[in-house]
Amino acid sequence: MHHSRGKSKNSKIANAPKQKISYEKKVDSAITEYSVRSLNWLRKAEFLMSAPKLNLCVEDTGYEIAFAGRSNAGKSSAINALTNQKQLARASKKPGRTQMINFFSLGNPDQRLVDLPGYGYAAVPEAMKLVWQKELENYLIHRQSLQGLVLLMDIRHPLQHFDVMMLEWAYSRKLFVHVLLTKSDKLNRGPASKVLQEVQQQLRKMKLQFSIQLFSSMNKQGLEELASVMAGRLNFTLEQSTKFDLDSIPEADVDDLDEPLESMDADDEAEIEIAEDATDESRQAD
Ligand code: GDP
Repeated sequence: MHHSRGKSKNSKIANAPKQKISYEKKVDSAITEYSVRSLNWLRKAEFLMSAPKLNLCVEDTGYEIAFAGRSNAGKSSAINALTNQKQLARASKKPGRTQMINFFSLGNPDQRLVDLPGYGYAAVPEAMKLVWQKELENYLIHRQSLQGLVLLMDIRHPLQHFDVMMLEWAYSRKLFVHVLLTKSDKLNRGPASKVLQEVQQQLRKMKLQFSIQLFSSMNKQGLEELASVMAGRLNFTLEQSTKFDLDSIPEADVDDLDEPLESMDADDEAEIEIAEDATDESRQAD
């Protein structure tokens, strides 16, 4: 279905007789056009640099949105699906870069996507984890260009300690959070929307007015929604989108993912156990 995304919608918009469109439809097509253009824009992502600490980050100007989540939440897959680049977020997973803040420019160095370290890596020694947590905290507290977070949570294990900690940090700093319930393809539609409602309810209980959506890197559910949320927060305008040729940017494809998504699922439980141990400690240290 996504094969026809973009091109067909845009040609529809271009060919539509203007007077015949009702006001409501005009609004709809504007939203669709914006999300399609946002998605194409995000595909201009380029790796900028990795920073081990706050004072070594790229210049603190413009706008940036950081992706955060426990390790195995599906962060790399999401960044790759969103930018339609097989290896983009894998760059953050290279040995030595896993505990760093990784910056990607979005066609302009003043509009950035930031990949924060996945929380709960088993391979990292305890002392390192504490040092790193401090750096992460530093970044979240002091980074001026940081507009907000995209917080990824596996739909089967939402709102773990790390997630709640991130939500509270963001709230105390007046950052927005857009929550992704990832791997939504793992549940049927009914159970998936039930989890969505439950998490929404929990957020309301915590008095957190954050947006939330279902997301799947595998079947691309929620890709346009995420793209337009990000674009809006990063000040991407339709005018800016005229600066590049939409048709020259390839469509995302499931086959473009660099590993079969189902293959590692048997490991999920083991990794999650490790992540929970780690987050418990972080909670106590908090
Ligand atoms: P990260 O540690 O947060 O960067 O997570 P990854 O992107 O590496 O994904 C962790 C595991 O979940 C991998 O085995 C992926 O193949 C799998 N995964 C990621 N996204 C999806 C998804 O949308 N659907 C399914 N079924 N599996 C996914």
